[in-house]
Amino acid sequence: MPQSATASQDTNASALTLSCVIPAYNEADNLARLLPMLREELDRTGMPWEIIVINDGSRDHTRDTLAQLSGQIRGVRAVHFSRNFGKEAAITAGIDMAHGDAVILMDADLQHSPALIPVMLQHWHDGAEVVYAIRSHRDDEKPLKQIGTRLFYRAVNRGARFGIPPNAGDFRLMDRKVVLALRRLPERNRFMKGLYAWAGFRTVAIPYQPLTRESGLSSFNALRLLHFAIDGMTAFTTWPLRVVTLIGMLAALVAFLYGSWVVLAYFIWGNRVSGWSTLIVCILLFSGLQMMSLGVVGEYIARIFEEVKRRPVYIVSEEHGSGLPRKRRAT
Ligand code: UDP
Ligand code: MG
Repeated sequence: MPQSATASQDTNASALTLSCVIPAYNEADNLARLLPMLREELDRTGMPWEIIVINDGSRDHTRDTLAQLSGQIRGVRAVHFSRNFGKEAAITAGIDMAHGDAVILMDADLQHSPALIPVMLQHWHDGAEVVYAIRSHRDDEKPLKQIGTRLFYRAVNRGARFGIPPNAGDFRLMDRKVVLALRRLPERNRFMKGLYAWAGFRTVAIPYQPLTRESGLSSFNALRLLHFAIDGMTAFTTWPLRVVTLIGMLAALVAFLYGSWVVLAYFIWGNRVSGWSTLIVCILLFSGLQMMSLGVVGEYIARIFEEVKRRPVYIVSEEHGSGLPRKRRAT
Protein backbone atom coordinates (compact mmCIF):
# COMPACT_ATOMS: atom_id res chain seq x y z
CA MET A 1 0.00 0.00 0.00
CA PRO A 2 1.89 3.08 -1.19
CA GLN A 3 -0.17 5.61 0.69
CA SER A 4 0.22 5.82 4.46
CA ALA A 5 -2.80 4.49 6.33
CA THR A 6 -2.75 7.61 8.50
CA ALA A 7 -4.24 9.42 5.53
CA SER A 8 -7.48 7.55 6.03
CA GLN A 9 -7.83 8.66 9.62
CA ASP A 10 -9.48 11.96 8.69
CA THR A 11 -12.16 10.31 6.57
CA ASN A 12 -12.93 7.41 8.88
CA ALA A 13 -13.19 8.76 12.41
CA SER A 14 -14.95 5.69 13.79
CA ALA A 15 -12.32 3.17 12.62
CA LEU A 16 -10.28 1.43 15.28
CA THR A 17 -6.88 3.01 15.61
CA LEU A 18 -3.48 1.71 16.59
CA SER A 19 -0.59 3.33 18.50
CA CYS A 20 2.95 1.98 18.66
CA VAL A 21 5.07 3.19 21.55
CA ILE A 22 8.84 2.83 21.31
CA PRO A 23 11.24 3.89 24.09
CA ALA A 24 14.63 4.73 22.64
CA TYR A 25 17.94 5.44 24.30
CA ASN A 26 20.89 5.79 21.88
CA GLU A 27 19.09 4.00 19.08
CA ALA A 28 19.64 6.28 16.06
CA ASP A 29 20.81 3.49 13.73
CA ASN A 30 18.19 1.04 14.91
CA LEU A 31 15.35 3.55 14.56
CA ALA A 32 16.39 4.42 11.03
CA ARG A 33 15.93 0.73 10.16
CA LEU A 34 12.93 -0.03 12.36
CA LEU A 35 10.56 2.82 11.51
CA PRO A 36 10.31 2.17 7.73
CA MET A 37 9.79 -1.56 8.45
CA LEU A 38 7.17 -0.77 11.05
CA ARG A 39 5.41 1.66 8.75
CA GLU A 40 5.02 -1.09 6.14
CA GLU A 41 3.70 -3.53 8.71
CA LEU A 42 1.23 -0.97 10.11
CA ASP A 43 0.03 0.06 6.65
CA ARG A 44 -0.78 -3.59 5.99
CA THR A 45 -3.17 -3.66 8.97
CA GLY A 46 -5.40 -1.12 7.22
CA MET A 47 -5.95 0.71 10.50
CA PRO A 48 -5.13 4.37 11.08
CA TRP A 49 -1.94 4.34 13.14
CA GLU A 50 0.65 6.42 14.92
CA ILE A 51 4.15 5.64 16.10
CA ILE A 52 5.26 7.45 19.26
CA VAL A 53 8.99 7.29 19.84
CA ILE A 54 10.17 8.48 23.23
CA ASN A 55 13.75 9.67 23.01
CA ASP A 56 14.90 9.03 26.58
CA GLY A 57 17.73 11.58 26.71
CA SER A 58 19.91 9.82 24.13
CA ARG A 59 23.52 10.91 23.78
CA ASP A 60 23.94 9.85 20.16
CA HIS A 61 22.17 11.44 17.17
CA THR A 62 18.78 9.85 17.96
CA ARG A 63 17.23 13.30 18.26
CA ASP A 64 18.24 14.43 14.76
CA THR A 65 17.40 11.07 13.21
CA LEU A 66 13.96 11.23 14.78
CA ALA A 67 13.36 14.82 13.71
CA GLN A 68 14.16 13.73 10.16
CA LEU A 69 12.09 10.52 10.27
CA SER A 70 9.07 12.26 11.76
CA GLY A 71 9.20 14.68 8.82
CA GLN A 72 9.42 11.84 6.30
CA ILE A 73 6.91 9.38 7.75
CA ARG A 74 3.48 10.78 8.45
CA GLY A 75 2.14 9.51 11.76
CA VAL A 76 5.48 9.41 13.60
CA ARG A 77 5.52 11.53 16.74
CA ALA A 78 8.91 12.00 18.37
CA VAL A 79 8.91 13.03 22.03
CA HIS A 80 12.22 14.09 23.55
CA PHE A 81 12.85 13.87 27.29
CA SER A 82 14.93 16.57 28.94
CA ARG A 83 17.36 13.86 30.13
CA ASN A 84 17.56 10.09 30.57
CA PHE A 85 14.67 9.05 32.83
CA GLY A 86 14.84 5.29 32.19
CA LYS A 87 12.85 2.85 30.10
CA GLU A 88 9.95 2.61 32.56
CA ALA A 89 9.47 6.39 32.47
CA ALA A 90 9.64 6.36 28.66
CA ILE A 91 6.93 3.68 28.47
CA THR A 92 4.82 5.66 30.97
CA ALA A 93 5.08 8.72 28.73
CA GLY A 94 4.09 6.70 25.67
CA ILE A 95 1.07 5.28 27.50
CA ASP A 96 0.07 8.80 28.58
CA MET A 97 0.30 10.14 25.03
CA ALA A 98 -1.09 7.30 22.89
CA HIS A 99 -4.51 7.94 21.33
CA GLY A 100 -5.04 4.51 19.72
CA ASP A 101 -7.76 2.00 20.57
CA ALA A 102 -4.94 -0.50 20.89
CA VAL A 103 -1.43 0.38 22.02
CA ILE A 104 1.59 -1.75 21.16
CA LEU A 105 4.81 -1.37 23.14
CA MET A 106 8.05 -2.45 21.52
CA ASP A 107 11.79 -1.91 21.85
CA ALA A 108 13.72 0.17 19.36
CA ASP A 109 16.56 -2.30 18.86
CA LEU A 110 14.66 -4.67 16.51
CA GLN A 111 14.62 -7.41 19.14
CA HIS A 112 10.83 -7.17 18.96
CA SER A 113 9.87 -8.06 15.42
CA PRO A 114 7.05 -6.03 13.79
CA ALA A 115 6.03 -9.30 12.11
CA LEU A 116 4.30 -10.28 15.39
CA ILE A 117 1.91 -7.31 15.21
CA PRO A 118 -0.74 -9.01 13.00
CA VAL A 119 -0.79 -11.98 15.41
CA MET A 120 -1.31 -9.62 18.36
CA LEU A 121 -4.06 -7.77 16.50
CA GLN A 122 -5.80 -11.03 15.67
CA HIS A 123 -5.96 -11.95 19.38
CA TRP A 124 -7.20 -8.44 20.17
CA HIS A 125 -9.98 -8.73 17.57
CA ASP A 126 -10.86 -12.09 19.13
CA GLY A 127 -11.47 -10.38 22.48
CA ALA A 128 -8.13 -10.30 24.32
CA GLU A 129 -7.45 -7.05 26.17
CA VAL A 130 -3.75 -7.67 26.68
CA VAL A 131 -1.59 -9.72 24.32
CA TYR A 132 2.00 -10.13 25.41
CA ALA A 133 4.95 -11.89 23.92
CA ILE A 134 6.53 -14.42 26.21
CA ARG A 135 10.06 -15.74 25.79
CA SER A 136 9.88 -19.38 24.77
CA HIS A 137 13.28 -20.03 26.38
CA ARG A 138 16.19 -18.21 27.98
CA ASP A 139 18.96 -20.44 26.62
CA ASP A 140 20.66 -17.43 25.08
CA GLU A 141 21.33 -15.92 28.52
CA LYS A 142 24.16 -16.63 30.98
CA PRO A 143 23.30 -19.25 33.66
CA LEU A 144 23.73 -16.70 36.47
CA LYS A 145 21.16 -14.39 34.88
CA GLN A 146 18.76 -17.29 34.38
CA ILE A 147 19.04 -18.28 38.06
CA GLY A 148 18.67 -14.65 39.17
CA THR A 149 15.57 -14.19 37.02
CA ARG A 150 13.98 -17.36 38.36
CA LEU A 151 14.68 -16.34 41.97
CA PHE A 152 13.32 -12.86 41.34
CA TYR A 153 9.99 -14.05 39.96
CA ARG A 154 9.61 -16.57 42.80
CA ALA A 155 10.29 -13.83 45.36
CA VAL A 156 8.15 -11.12 43.80
CA ASN A 157 5.15 -13.41 43.24
CA ARG A 158 5.20 -14.88 46.74
CA GLY A 159 1.82 -14.42 48.37
CA ALA A 160 0.52 -11.99 45.75
CA ARG A 161 -3.05 -12.11 44.48
CA PHE A 162 -1.84 -11.62 40.94
CA GLY A 163 1.23 -13.15 39.32
CA ILE A 164 3.82 -11.28 37.31
CA PRO A 165 4.36 -13.73 34.45
CA PRO A 166 8.01 -14.82 34.26
CA ASN A 167 9.67 -14.34 30.88
CA ALA A 168 7.19 -11.70 29.73
CA GLY A 169 8.72 -8.49 28.51
CA ASP A 170 7.37 -5.14 27.51
CA PHE A 171 6.52 -6.30 23.98
CA ARG A 172 2.74 -6.28 24.19
CA LEU A 173 -0.54 -4.99 22.86
CA MET A 174 -2.98 -3.36 25.24
CA ASP A 175 -6.56 -2.36 24.72
CA ARG A 176 -7.47 1.24 25.43
CA LYS A 177 -9.22 0.11 28.64
CA VAL A 178 -5.94 -1.23 29.96
CA VAL A 179 -4.11 1.92 28.95
CA LEU A 180 -6.66 4.06 30.79
CA ALA A 181 -6.28 1.81 33.86
CA LEU A 182 -2.49 2.18 33.77
CA ARG A 183 -2.79 5.96 33.49
CA ARG A 184 -4.68 5.97 36.77
CA LEU A 185 -1.76 4.46 38.69
CA PRO A 186 -0.07 7.39 40.38
CA GLU A 187 3.14 5.83 41.66
CA ARG A 188 6.57 7.18 40.74
CA ASN A 189 8.23 3.79 40.99
CA ARG A 190 7.12 2.52 37.59
CA PHE A 191 7.93 -1.18 37.62
CA MET A 192 5.87 -1.70 34.48
CA LYS A 193 5.90 -5.52 34.39
CA GLY A 194 4.27 -5.43 37.82
CA LEU A 195 1.81 -2.68 36.90
CA TYR A 196 0.56 -4.57 33.83
CA ALA A 197 -0.06 -7.65 35.96
CA TRP A 198 -1.65 -5.58 38.73
CA ALA A 199 -4.13 -4.06 36.27
CA GLY A 200 -5.37 -7.53 35.23
CA PHE A 201 -7.75 -7.81 32.21
CA ARG A 202 -8.24 -10.66 29.74
CA THR A 203 -4.75 -11.66 28.78
CA VAL A 204 -3.26 -13.87 26.10
CA ALA A 205 0.42 -14.87 25.97
CA ILE A 206 2.07 -15.67 22.67
CA PRO A 207 5.40 -17.50 22.64
CA TYR A 208 8.19 -15.62 20.98
CA GLN A 209 11.97 -15.56 20.95
CA PRO A 210 13.51 -12.05 20.94
CA LEU A 211 15.94 -11.53 18.09
CA THR A 212 19.47 -10.34 18.76
CA ARG A 213 19.97 -6.60 19.17
CA GLU A 214 20.58 -5.03 15.75
CA SER A 215 23.23 -2.48 16.74
CA GLY A 216 24.51 -0.83 19.91
CA LEU A 217 24.62 -2.36 23.39
CA SER A 218 21.95 -3.29 25.94
CA SER A 219 21.55 -0.64 28.65
CA PHE A 220 20.89 -3.23 31.32
CA ASN A 221 24.05 -4.63 32.92
CA ALA A 222 24.05 -6.86 36.02
CA LEU A 223 24.08 -3.93 38.48
CA ARG A 224 21.22 -2.12 36.75
CA LEU A 225 19.21 -5.34 36.68
CA LEU A 226 19.79 -5.74 40.42
CA HIS A 227 18.50 -2.21 41.06
CA PHE A 228 15.56 -2.95 38.81
CA ALA A 229 14.81 -6.15 40.76
CA ILE A 230 14.91 -4.25 44.08
CA ASP A 231 12.53 -1.63 42.63
CA GLY A 232 10.18 -4.42 41.65
CA MET A 233 10.42 -6.15 45.02
CA THR A 234 9.74 -3.00 47.03
CA ALA A 235 6.88 -1.97 44.75
CA PHE A 236 5.05 -5.28 44.85
CA THR A 237 5.87 -7.10 48.08
CA THR A 238 5.83 -6.49 51.80
CA TRP A 239 6.79 -9.98 52.89
CA PRO A 240 10.50 -9.10 53.32
CA LEU A 241 9.43 -6.81 56.18
CA ARG A 242 7.62 -9.69 57.81
CA VAL A 243 10.65 -11.91 57.35
CA VAL A 244 12.71 -9.29 59.19
CA THR A 245 10.25 -9.45 62.09
CA LEU A 246 10.40 -13.24 62.09
CA ILE A 247 14.20 -13.29 62.04
CA GLY A 248 14.17 -10.84 64.97
CA MET A 249 11.80 -13.04 66.95
CA LEU A 250 13.80 -16.18 66.21
CA ALA A 251 17.07 -14.47 67.16
CA ALA A 252 15.52 -13.24 70.42
CA LEU A 253 14.32 -16.77 71.22
CA VAL A 254 17.73 -18.30 70.56
CA ALA A 255 19.38 -15.54 72.64
CA PHE A 256 16.96 -16.19 75.52
CA LEU A 257 17.58 -19.95 75.47
CA TYR A 258 21.33 -19.54 75.26
CA GLY A 259 21.28 -16.90 78.01
CA SER A 260 19.30 -19.22 80.29
CA TRP A 261 21.79 -22.00 79.66
CA VAL A 262 24.74 -19.74 80.53
CA VAL A 263 23.10 -18.68 83.80
CA LEU A 264 22.30 -22.29 84.69
CA ALA A 265 25.82 -23.44 83.83
CA TYR A 266 27.19 -20.74 86.10
CA PHE A 267 25.13 -21.90 89.08
CA ILE A 268 25.53 -25.63 88.48
CA TRP A 269 29.18 -25.88 87.43
CA GLY A 270 30.43 -22.52 88.52
CA ASN A 271 31.47 -21.80 84.93
CA ARG A 272 32.96 -18.33 84.84
CA VAL A 273 34.96 -16.53 82.17
CA SER A 274 34.90 -19.04 79.32
CA GLY A 275 33.17 -18.26 76.04
CA TRP A 276 35.07 -15.34 74.52
CA SER A 277 34.70 -16.82 71.00
CA THR A 278 30.97 -17.36 71.52
CA LEU A 279 30.63 -13.73 72.54
CA ILE A 280 32.38 -12.45 69.42
CA VAL A 281 30.40 -14.76 67.13
CA CYS A 282 27.15 -13.60 68.73
CA ILE A 283 28.02 -9.93 68.44
CA LEU A 284 29.01 -10.30 64.78
CA LEU A 285 25.99 -12.43 63.92
CA PHE A 286 23.47 -10.15 65.56
CA SER A 287 24.98 -6.92 64.32
CA GLY A 288 24.97 -8.45 60.83
CA LEU A 289 21.31 -9.37 61.17
CA GLN A 290 20.50 -5.90 62.45
CA MET A 291 22.25 -4.18 59.57
CA MET A 292 20.52 -6.43 57.08
CA SER A 293 17.12 -5.75 58.61
CA LEU A 294 17.80 -2.03 58.65
CA GLY A 295 18.72 -2.28 54.97
CA VAL A 296 15.44 -4.02 54.10
CA VAL A 297 13.39 -1.48 56.06
CA GLY A 298 15.49 1.32 54.54
CA GLU A 299 14.68 0.17 50.99
CA TYR A 300 10.97 0.50 51.70
CA ILE A 301 11.42 3.88 53.38
CA ALA A 302 13.42 5.09 50.37
CA ARG A 303 10.47 4.22 48.13
CA ILE A 304 8.09 6.14 50.42
CA PHE A 305 10.47 9.10 50.20
CA GLU A 306 10.46 8.87 46.38
CA GLU A 307 6.67 8.76 46.32
CA VAL A 308 5.96 11.61 48.74
CA LYS A 309 8.15 14.00 46.77
CA ARG A 310 5.54 13.70 43.99
CA ARG A 311 7.97 14.68 41.28
CA PRO A 312 6.80 13.98 37.74
CA VAL A 313 7.98 10.68 36.26
CA TYR A 314 9.44 12.44 33.20
CA ILE A 315 9.89 15.88 31.65
CA VAL A 316 9.38 16.45 27.93
CA SER A 317 11.64 19.07 26.40
CA GLU A 318 10.59 19.00 22.76
CA GLU A 319 8.38 17.20 20.21
CA HIS A 320 8.48 16.56 16.47
CA GLY A 321 5.77 15.33 14.14
CA SER A 322 2.26 14.36 15.08
CA GLY A 323 0.40 11.13 15.64
CA LEU A 324 -3.29 10.30 15.57
CA PRO A 325 -5.77 13.07 16.30
CA ARG A 326 -7.54 12.65 19.63
CA LYS A 327 -10.86 10.88 19.10
CA ARG A 328 -13.96 12.46 20.51
CA ARG A 329 -15.32 9.88 22.91
CA ALA A 330 -18.49 9.54 24.88
CA THR A 331 -16.53 8.54 27.99
N1 UDP B 1 15.77 2.23 26.87
C1 UDP B 1 15.28 3.47 27.27
N2 UDP B 1 15.89 4.12 28.32
C2 UDP B 1 16.94 3.57 28.99
C3 UDP B 1 17.40 2.29 28.60
C4 UDP B 1 16.79 1.65 27.54
O1 UDP B 1 14.34 4.00 26.68
O2 UDP B 1 17.44 4.21 29.92
C5 UDP B 1 15.13 1.55 25.73
C6 UDP B 1 16.09 1.07 24.65
O3 UDP B 1 16.37 2.08 23.71
C7 UDP B 1 15.33 -0.08 24.03
C8 UDP B 1 14.56 -0.66 25.22
O4 UDP B 1 14.52 0.37 26.19
O5 UDP B 1 14.42 0.35 23.04
C9 UDP B 1 15.22 -1.91 25.77
O6 UDP B 1 16.54 -1.61 26.15
P1 UDP B 1 17.75 -2.61 25.94
O7 UDP B 1 17.72 -3.18 24.57
O8 UDP B 1 18.98 -1.87 26.34
O9 UDP B 1 17.42 -3.72 27.02
P2 UDP B 1 17.35 -5.31 26.85
O10 UDP B 1 16.75 -5.59 25.51
O11 UDP B 1 18.74 -5.78 26.99
O12 UDP B 1 16.47 -5.73 27.98
MG1 MG C 1 17.19 -4.86 23.74
